[in-house]
Amino acid sequence: MNLSVIGTGYVGLVSGTCFAEMGNRVTCVDVINEKIENLKKGVIPIYEPGLKAMVLRNIENETLYFTTSLEESLNKCDVAFIAVGTPMGEDGSADLQYVLQVARSIGKYMVRPLIVVNKSTVPVGTADKVRSVILEELDARDQNIPFSVVSNPEFLKEGDAINDFMKPDRVVVGSDNEKATAKMRALYAPFFRSSMDRLITMDVRSAEMTKYVANSMLATKISFMNEVANICELVGADVNKVRIGIGSDHRIGYSFIYPGSGYGGSCFPKDVKALIRTASEHNYNAELIGAVESVNDRQKLVIANKVISRFGDNLEGRTFSVWGLAFKPQTDDMREAPSIYIIKELVRRGACIKAYDPKAIREAQQFYLKDVPGITYFNSKYETLADSDAMILLTEWKEFRSPDFEELKQQLKQPVIFDGRNQYNDIMLKEMGFEYYQIGKKEKL
Ligand code: NAD
Repeated sequence: MNLSVIGTGYVGLVSGTCFAEMGNRVTCVDVINEKIENLKKGVIPIYEPGLKAMVLRNIENETLYFTTSLEESLNKCDVAFIAVGTPMGEDGSADLQYVLQVARSIGKYMVRPLIVVNKSTVPVGTADKVRSVILEELDARDQNIPFSVVSNPEFLKEGDAINDFMKPDRVVVGSDNEKATAKMRALYAPFFRSSMDRLITMDVRSAEMTKYVANSMLATKISFMNEVANICELVGADVNKVRIGIGSDHRIGYSFIYPGSGYGGSCFPKDVKALIRTASEHNYNAELIGAVESVNDRQKLVIANKVISRFGDNLEGRTFSVWGLAFKPQTDDMREAPSIYIIKELVRRGACIKAYDPKAIREAQQFYLKDVPGITYFNSKYETLADSDAMILLTEWKEFRSPDFEELKQQLKQPVIFDGRNQYNDIMLKEMGFEYYQIGKKEKL
């Protein structure tokens, strides 16, 4: 099939490349000229394992093209995917300006029957808005070209996006048009060689809702466990043991019940907020989901508060080594990362920060911590340790899992570790003479 994928961020670039890998002819469109020129040369704007090789292979196979011209891409297009950002608006709702701009351009430039697929995460009712905007533009041109609007929310995870897209747990297709559904089934068939049961079809509104509910459910598990962790600490229990104790019940399971410094990233914070907002627009107070968000906001500062309890309110003259800036491992994405909140709080109290992350330093320097003074960035984790009062672990990159603790002990001013991701064995660290602070278990000296 001839596909246009509009928006070359995490979702658009990965989906477009994976569709190309299956033999479709894909044109990826973006408004940022520099991004498109770089992509044509195989320069990838994001860090995503396996993506670069796949992009290069498909450019060479002439299955993957890049352009800034949506008009040109629609000339031969059968299916156009909208994969632009839907950031959080000021009132917490999803900002649909980019989605609707794309819809307007599609209406202006489409020349043949088209299936318009919304892959961006959008509130219930957005497909109707997209349809109206396209119709308005077609009417203005006095054209009557048939099209349908399908919802196909994306569930890939940054850091494992290629794998998620190539072998999806499920693909949700919301459509009110049988022909469009059949086309989507054909497009996704190569991704389900063993079974098509994982392609779930439903009405458009339910599909739009499914994405928000999936993310809010996962965020709920995280906030629930973080709340439990805080209670564990107060009553002298160990959340790491409690986690294993409850996860062994198959109705609960082990996934997404790790205590930590709260969720971040481009999706959970904004999608939880948007669902709360959707509910309130219908005069419903989504109490539980509201609590998920407020527990998370509080959780982001738990590690900073432990540092303050240990070193005092005034952190002038203190230096902390921070391992990990990205909101999770295997990505350079720092959107809403707990590290931003923790570092800002420590710096506000006078501390200096020596930071290292395997992939996210550029993002931190250029955007998320750009205006924060007192941060120095290093090329390796051990370089951050000299003259630091403590090491603070904020992202569970594999290279942090089993560090040389003797080196930490030698380099740090005193052997103190704050672990925002509960990565280490507290008994071993205590035997080695460390003060070890983690989430959900009281440090015993
Ligand atoms: P992103 O911000 O990384 O990328 C969006 C891209 O769209 C940018 O390159 C931007 O330049 C481009 N764009 C904006 N307006 C455009 C226009 N008019 N024409 C062409 N391109 C335009 O966003 P993302 O992380 O890929 O997310 C896209 C959508 O998918 C969002 O709704 C998000 O919630 C959802 N989603 C994201 C993830 C994820 O892990 N990042 C996972 C599932 C769903």
